[in-house]
Amino acid sequence: MDEYELPKYGRAVRENILKRDNECQGCGIFEGCDRREPERIPARLEVHHILPRGYAKRLDFNPNFPENLITLCKPSHRGDVSSVHPDIYRAGIEYNRGDKDAFTKAKAHHERLLDNQRIYWNGEHDRQLSAQAVRQTQKRRREGWRWITDD
Ligand SMILES: [Zn+2]
Ligand SMILES: [Zn+2]
Repeated sequence: MDEYELPKYGRAVRENILKRDNECQGCGIFEGCDRREPERIPARLEVHHILPRGYAKRLDFNPNFPENLITLCKPSHRGDVSSVHPDIYRAGIEYNRGDKDAFTKAKAHHERLLDNQRIYWNGEHDRQLSAQAVRQTQKRRREGWRWITDD
């Protein structure tokens, strides 16, 4: 369904970032985060690219490095309008209403914005998430965590 949003990295990278972070890193940044409500069913954890893949592709850099990857719960990631991907959330609603092209349209909109030198994501979220990803990486490295790649 929303394969557009599913990140392109292998299982090893995903598991390594989940191991580094252990829980959603969006709490305090995103209203939708429910990590601190243990009575609720634990939210599924997802690994998010801070600088998006589509953007990285244009600039020809590999977005899979530890300071660009961060663990978010699904609500923080794409669960509502205050999440890191409100446009993906909205596309999901349109898709469920029957618009099977909703994700393709969202992606096309992103491309148009980039064509016009504009970003389609929230730069303020980026700053906060990047700082958190750097902190997590440094802290875990001191504890012996090592970055691994898929190849
Ligand atoms: Zn969260
Ligand atoms: Zn994401």
